[in-house]
Amino acid sequence: MAKTTHIAVVSMPVFSHRASIVEFCKRLLHLHQHFHVTCIFPTIGTCIPATTTLFESLPPNIDHILLPPVKKEDLPQKVPPLVNLQLAVFKSMPFLRDALRSLCSTKPLAALIADPFANEALEIAKEFNLPSYIYFPTSAMTVSLLLHLPTLHMKVSCDFKELKEAVQIPGCIPIQGDDLPCDFQDRHCLAYELILQRCKRFSLANGFLVNSFFEMERSTVEALKEHNSTHVYPVGPIIQNTEPSGDSNLLQCKKWLDLQRPNSVLYVSFGSGATLPQRQLNELAFGLELSGQNFLWVLRAPSDRADRAYIDAANDDPLQFLPNGFLERTKGHGFVVPSWAPQTQVLSHASTGGFLTHCGWNSTLESIVIGVPMITWPLFAEQRMNALLLTEGLKVALRPKFNENGIAEKEEIGNVIKSLMLGEEGKVIRQRIERLKDDATNALKEDGSSTRALSQFGTQIENFQR
Ligand code: UDP
Repeated sequence: MAKTTHIAVVSMPVFSHRASIVEFCKRLLHLHQHFHVTCIFPTIGTCIPATTTLFESLPPNIDHILLPPVKKEDLPQKVPPLVNLQLAVFKSMPFLRDALRSLCSTKPLAALIADPFANEALEIAKEFNLPSYIYFPTSAMTVSLLLHLPTLHMKVSCDFKELKEAVQIPGCIPIQGDDLPCDFQDRHCLAYELILQRCKRFSLANGFLVNSFFEMERSTVEALKEHNSTHVYPVGPIIQNTEPSGDSNLLQCKKWLDLQRPNSVLYVSFGSGATLPQRQLNELAFGLELSGQNFLWVLRAPSDRADRAYIDAANDDPLQFLPNGFLERTKGHGFVVPSWAPQTQVLSHASTGGFLTHCGWNSTLESIVIGVPMITWPLFAEQRMNALLLTEGLKVALRPKFNENGIAEKEEIGNVIKSLMLGEEGKVIRQRIERLKDDATNALKEDGSSTRALSQFGTQIENFQR
């Protein structure tokens, strides 16, 4: 019998990153059955219910350790939530070191895999003499940009949003400055300083695992391989498939979707924690009404900070923030779900024909794997770049226009929805995403590109161990 190869995996305290790395581990273990994984999770405050379900559903060959929670009170008050998440991970590193020490005392570790937002772990891996890898739950284009940032930082002296010309990264479509991730927008803020430090640290890794697939980002992956001495493994698309058992939202969504015509429903969701400001929420509601199309909307209480709920989820009933009479007027063709829906199940339902998404990478991949055309509505992080890839690169989505105050107005929303669900443009996009879906399926087959990449990764770990 083959000797067990034990790997430690470090994530960050955001549902989507945790869920993605767990699914990656499941796939790795499926392919390399003598591997064993211990997932180490830095934590902050209490978990959202989906995270609890995720931990409870871990298979026996994935152990997990929750590091002592960082208290929100111990984090600075005036910095953006996504920056605080990074500071929380940083504060957790001494606990990670303790956890690794204790793991190594019982069974030798073969490697460590870290989330890009927990890449301080690369330095700790060195202390333990462990080969280390980054699992990027992002596009290859985002990986290219992150690896390229230290060079861009030296070349460009103004803020990126002021650049007249698009940024050209080898193998990627040109990116306008204001489509770069939000942390890049102000070179003098803490968010930028942190991301720059993080990008410089990537050079410590022995390899990069990327949740994308060769056929979808061919030129980017080729350029990544050409311009980096580090191994690059495109292993995706890896999407969530934890069935939320006995979930009442699942039953209700399914019941409602069962009553609708095939491909007639637009699913509207902004990921695991994003929120809209009240004014935008109103415009979206009116836009959905104006479109006359069926919709299933996952609604969260509004906030002026789109990323607030990643640290501080509001407990208010979100339905109270809808325009007066909205639920009555849209009864029959609209269904509003408070806070959370079983997304992959909703997207897989035959009635779902479109997805209005904030372009988080997991949502993006889920839509591609299931073959649902999209409307892009990026909010923060690298979502504008994902939107660019979907609209300009892959051409499987429509992008509404936002006015000078950053608001998408109801008429614009209504028109874009009609174009996607009823128009000629929508039809062409639907055909394209069907082809991309086939590519995604093929990449994951036994002899597919992503399966081969994952297998090569496993072999490399085993070689290190020998
Ligand atoms: N998700 C879900 N139900 C919801 C909202 C989100 O199941 O109501 C899942 C979704 O399927 C995806 C993840 O949460 O796997 C969101 O990840 P993404 O990268 O799209 O966005 P983020 O949460 O990081 O902003």
